[in-house]
Amino acid sequence: MRKMNRIPLSPNLKRFKFFFDLLKRNTDDYLFLMDLTTSLIMVSPNLVQDFELPGEIMDDFDQYWLPLVHPEERTNYSNSISEVMHHRSREHMLDYRVKNRKGDYVWIRCRGTIGFDRDGTPNIFTGVMTRLSQRNQADEVTGLLNKYQFERGVKSALAAYRSTGVGGAVMVLGLDNFKIINETHNRVVGDHVLKEVSRQIEAILPPDFTLYKLDGDEFAIVYPQAGEKEVAELFASIQGCLAHPYEVDGRQYFNTVSAGTVFYPQGGKDYLVLHKHAEAAMDSAKRAGKNRNCIFSKEQYNRWVRSITMRDSLWDSVENGCEGFSLFFQPQVSAVNRELIGAESLLRWRNPKGRMVAPMEFIPILEETKLIVPVGKWIYEEVVRICKRWREVRPKFCISVNLSYEQVKDLSFKNFALDCLKRYDMPADSVVLELTESKIVADWSFVNKQFDDFRQAGIKIAMDDFGTGYSSLASFKNLSCDIVKIDREFVKKILENDFDKQLVEYVVALCHSMGIKACIEGVEDIEEYNLLTKRCKADAIQGYLFGHPESEENFEEKFLKGPKYLEPCSPPQSR
Ligand code: C2E
Ligand code: CA
Ligand code: CA
Repeated sequence: MRKMNRIPLSPNLKRFKFFFDLLKRNTDDYLFLMDLTTSLIMVSPNLVQDFELPGEIMDDFDQYWLPLVHPEERTNYSNSISEVMHHRSREHMLDYRVKNRKGDYVWIRCRGTIGFDRDGTPNIFTGVMTRLSQRNQADEVTGLLNKYQFERGVKSALAAYRSTGVGGAVMVLGLDNFKIINETHNRVVGDHVLKEVSRQIEAILPPDFTLYKLDGDEFAIVYPQAGEKEVAELFASIQGCLAHPYEVDGRQYFNTVSAGTVFYPQGGKDYLVLHKHAEAAMDSAKRAGKNRNCIFSKEQYNRWVRSITMRDSLWDSVENGCEGFSLFFQPQVSAVNRELIGAESLLRWRNPKGRMVAPMEFIPILEETKLIVPVGKWIYEEVVRICKRWREVRPKFCISVNLSYEQVKDLSFKNFALDCLKRYDMPADSVVLELTESKIVADWSFVNKQFDDFRQAGIKIAMDDFGTGYSSLASFKNLSCDIVKIDREFVKKILENDFDKQLVEYVVALCHSMGIKACIEGVEDIEEYNLLTKRCKADAIQGYLFGHPESEENFEEKFLKGPKYLEPCSPPQSR
């Protein structure tokens, strides 16, 4: 605490002291009254307390106040006060940040007016300072201006556009994985993180930029006159400043942000539309993998709306007993003699309007919402049921089922599967589980533990899409499996390219040396087939050459009622 000074009141201040004392009892705002003839100032005690001023009466207020004013706003502050002191303006009205006794900058709105004596000489300057956080205009935690001020900022940028014809950008930023920080630690740590991130971003923003704090973990910036290049540079520098870890309570933290940017006037001409579009773009950035900036476009927005709508419809489908879902089956043949040995089940979904939606569109949403867990159980049971029926015609028939990582994490799936096999009296090796190795993020030992349990129960595991992940060879070492499915990516080039031919040959040999069977996917051409079987010695083949995915009825009609050995149907049909 600074030493308190005792300065006697000037006659002018004495005159108003009675009213001043009454007023200060009735407000939480800060009050001030300056005697212009002596420059003595009288302030309310809350101002003295919150900003550690030397006393309620001071003779050189700015000596104490100016150093507390945020450096970026000092010039504005001094200019505005000097206008009043030199009688060029009768009023002072300014929003600026001041450092409080805790060392945090808080936004205040200061309004003051000049009072004159009887002969028209200015003799007092009096007014009120309001804390914007108390007026719901600044964020309590970060001290940044809040969403209402953001609205004002966007509106004034739009007004500037209307008068100059030059547009700009609005960027909304969201912390990645903030929910996890709040859930695994606590809100206090969460608040520290928000404060730290706002401090880091503010430090790299040009002085005339404002960082706003919106709800939750979101921030926003209005960038007048910016184009794509400027926005990309701004986002890169935000990523750069967040790249350094920092400490909270002795723990290291490190954050990334996802952003959505909308340009005005192209992306909207009013605040609500711009805000909505920027939020949608940010959501798309998060879904595309986070730590990136997504620029709003009509097409991107329509895609986003479609995925939101799809999510709702998928929920409804699942709630109504997986209505709208169905399974298609694609034949698998033995490489040596083209005997039909099994099929892969592939999920299909018809949306409420009756349109078939591509699996690439709806499966990521099922995974994201974890709806794949109940749907996966439905698929498994359907497959067991169908496989049982098909085994009446082909006793050794196997069907493979695609498994998402979300399902591997669901510990109830294993018992469900075993129970299902028991209920239908089916052997465990009749249904194979396929898992894409690129989806396995971190925890190999956990995945292997699950798979060992399946394999001990007799359920076979296939590694799907081999050759598309970055660590395919490494996953051989990590994942214990019975079958490797080599992806079409490999197959496409084997006819043109000796290297790929050799590679497939070696991968198959490697599989065999470890007792693993190799199934080649996406075979479309008879020459590919010949090469893969004769030279590469693959065990099984799946691809358009022998059949497209078909509905249950069509599969029965086409393949189960037909000959045991399938004829290739080259050239590939297009569907
Ligand atoms: P996937 O597991 O790799 O399935 C094989 C995909 O390749 C299928 O696409 C199939 O139609 C296609 N395909 C088969 N033969 C050929 C060919 O000769 N040439 C070409 N170009 N493509 C061929 P689909 O049915 O569109 O499925 C796409 C992906 O969706 C699947 O890839 C799988 O990752 C996922 N998926 C499908 N059903 C399920 C499911 O039930 N559960 C889960 N978790 N994922 C599924
Ligand atoms: Ca598959
Ligand atoms: Ca595959």
